[in-house]
Amino acid sequence: MDLNKLTIKKYLEMHKNKEINALDLFQFAQNQYTTHHKHLNIFIEEQYAKALDIINKNPTLPFIPMGVKDNYLQERQNATAGSKILKNFIAPYSSTVIKRLESVNCLSIGRLNMDEFAMGSSGKTSGFGPTLSPWTNKKGASMSPGGSSSGSASSLASKLCLFSLGSDTGGSVRQPAAWCGLTGFKPTYGLLSRYGIVELACAFDAPGFFTKTMEDAEILFSYTKGKDVFDFTTVDHIEEKSKKKIGVLYDTRVHPETLEDLKNTVKHLKSKGYEVEEVSFSMLEYFLPIYYILCPAEASSNLARYDSIIFGDGKTKVQDLDDLYTKFRSENFGEEVQRRIVMGNYVMYSGNVDGYYNHARKLISKIWSEMKDTFYAYDCILMPTTSGPGITYEETLNPDPMAMYLCDLYTCFVNILGLPAASIPTRVSPSTGTPLGIQIVSKPMGDNLIFSVGKEIEQYYEFNEKNSWSNKC
Ligand code: GLN
Repeated sequence: MDLNKLTIKKYLEMHKNKEINALDLFQFAQNQYTTHHKHLNIFIEEQYAKALDIINKNPTLPFIPMGVKDNYLQERQNATAGSKILKNFIAPYSSTVIKRLESVNCLSIGRLNMDEFAMGSSGKTSGFGPTLSPWTNKKGASMSPGGSSSGSASSLASKLCLFSLGSDTGGSVRQPAAWCGLTGFKPTYGLLSRYGIVELACAFDAPGFFTKTMEDAEILFSYTKGKDVFDFTTVDHIEEKSKKKIGVLYDTRVHPETLEDLKNTVKHLKSKGYEVEEVSFSMLEYFLPIYYILCPAEASSNLARYDSIIFGDGKTKVQDLDDLYTKFRSENFGEEVQRRIVMGNYVMYSGNVDGYYNHARKLISKIWSEMKDTFYAYDCILMPTTSGPGITYEETLNPDPMAMYLCDLYTCFVNILGLPAASIPTRVSPSTGTPLGIQIVSKPMGDNLIFSVGKEIEQYYEFNEKNSWSNKC
């Protein structure tokens, strides 16, 4: 068995048959890290030694190596959300998702790097330096893993764990999954608890998984889903029935290889008995502006608590309270976070709130009433995750924030409408030598349909079987 291609499902089977043990698996992953991937800046804190200690005390348990995005709280551990402002923060409790996963033997290999407060699409906004992908393009250039779950995507693509946790507010699980050749799943809003995850925008935030297969995402979903008394927006899952119908959104602006993947997927799904129809989203252009009004509005309110009174080292020398806020926040928040605070305060300012914030909220209701029938007519809508293959690290240095905001074009509407979605890897792009992925989006509660349609697509492309995960090792 090639451990690089090992899935959670296979590992649990092999463990049951005594063909593998947790110690071998964790040591294999640790070795991958130390020999090949240290330079990628994947971890904020690497924890293999700690995990191996736990395994040595319980050597027969089927521990599953899990990477944890550093916005998930773990009791008595530091959690930074990628921000220097939280560098000394110790979490007093664990997030519900972590607790549920730990109860089925998932064990952290470390706290993963991420864009600061999950704002970003490349990992470059982290207060602890950018993360690189293990993928390089045909010219040998280092690729960006995408973001904001940059360390989560890079850790799984580097085979350092069997799955990793991400959070998806506008696409931060699906976009890096597409760029790194991984499956990235974002559930229906409310099916997974947000308790204990540092928030970006509460109305859009969703925990999500990076896995090698759809089946693994389904396993993790079954471990974690459902009502949580600590998060009043949570509900239990009521499965949706299949109509064996798929909608497809061809957007001719995307890379020709992505368009080709969409067309081939349609052919495959038809051969599997699905009826496929073309759909159009006349409102697609509105989602990015809506997202970049509402997300900063929520983020700026959420970030108001970081005022150095509770979070901070108390060492900033100041004259008065105003001076304290200004100095502490200017010194410890990065440029992107400061930009979002300004944007958020602008759209919430009493003279602007009707024109921006309230208007954007009203538009969501209007858009949903127009798009609802489309979503309910199909099992899933097939569409691009991103406009093409990923970008190089060099390209992320473009100082124009709009260039990065455009990465969310096909993903952020999913969060605005609270829908379930997944990105599925298709193939290595013949032109760039880096992964391509496509997206499926379902109606609320259609998570089970995402898994069944996703598995069909995955069986067609067989990305996990055909690819060595990264072209570096
Ligand atoms: N790229 C988006 C942003 O910067 C999405 C972030 C996310 O999903 N956490 O807001």
